[in-house]
Amino acid sequence: MLTGSCSCKKIRVELSGQPQTIALCHCADCRKITSCPYSYNFIVLKSDLTVTGTPATLPKMSDSGKAYENYYCNDCGTPVYGTDVSSDKESGTAVIRAGVFDDLSMLQDSKPTIEIYTAKRLKWIAPVEGCMQFEGMPPSA
Ligand SMILES: [Zn+2]
Ligand SMILES: [Zn+2]
Repeated sequence: MLTGSCSCKKIRVELSGQPQTIALCHCADCRKITSCPYSYNFIVLKSDLTVTGTPATLPKMSDSGKAYENYYCNDCGTPVYGTDVSSDKESGTAVIRAGVFDDLSMLQDSKPTIEIYTAKRLKWIAPVEGCMQFEGMPPSA
């Protein structure tokens, strides 16, 4: 069981399964949402994720026209996770901002498997070695 929280700890997350994908995203939205050069995300089954506390919701439309909701802490502002609102509660996925997890050694071992929106990657950031690279969304998504 992996645990994590926002900066002020009012929102807590528990993850019971393994992430399906570990992704860096260089898109403009992620840059704004995180106020960092890119986002570092665990894509997980919604059914593996337990969130306690009451995160605030920010609706967002993806490039492909899907309605997303991003959840963040209303007190400290930490972005916690996002999800495709139309996806199934059991089989659907959520995108956790992996910086919320507490265990640094777990994060050390959680090298990204995919980088997306690399066309928007800042020029001074190198691709992660051995990581699949996509200029936009991967074709399957
Ligand atoms: Zn907080
Ligand atoms: Zn993104």
